[in-house]
Amino acid sequence: MNRDPNCIFCKIVAGEIPAKKAYEDDEILAFHDIRPSAPLHLLVIPKTHVANLYDAKPEHVPALGKMLAVAGRLATEGGATDGFRTIINNGRVGHQEVYHVHMHVLGGPEPLGPMLSRRK
Ligand code: AMP
Ligand code: ZN
Repeated sequence: MNRDPNCIFCKIVAGEIPAKKAYEDDEILAFHDIRPSAPLHLLVIPKTHVANLYDAKPEHVPALGKMLAVAGRLATEGGATDGFRTIINNGRVGHQEVYHVHMHVLGGPEPLGPMLSRRK
């Protein structure tokens, strides 16, 4: 398990920063986004530090695959039973803010906008 001592999501994995957890196993963690853009807004991360998908390696496939595989269940459990959206932002052009790969899971009772714009 890689860890970056300056990474906020590694600190959440280590329990050094609080988070409202929705799911956890040995490889991945899901928690509520602190600044939700939709009624349901979760972040799903690998526990090991990977900055973004540019750095994804074959060894990360199980965790990255599991992130996708739990999304539907997390959406259902979070009340988004009629659709949801997943987003992974990468790098400057992707407006990535936190450099520990994370998948946004967004949903709610009503349809999301065609694209989500971040609140400043
Ligand atoms: P991104 O632009 O894809 O890198 O998104 C990073 C997300 O992390 C943003 O939606 C933030 O609101 C969220 N975030 C930052 N710090 C925390 C935190 N301590 N707990 C939960 N979510 C966070
Ligand atoms: Zn990290």
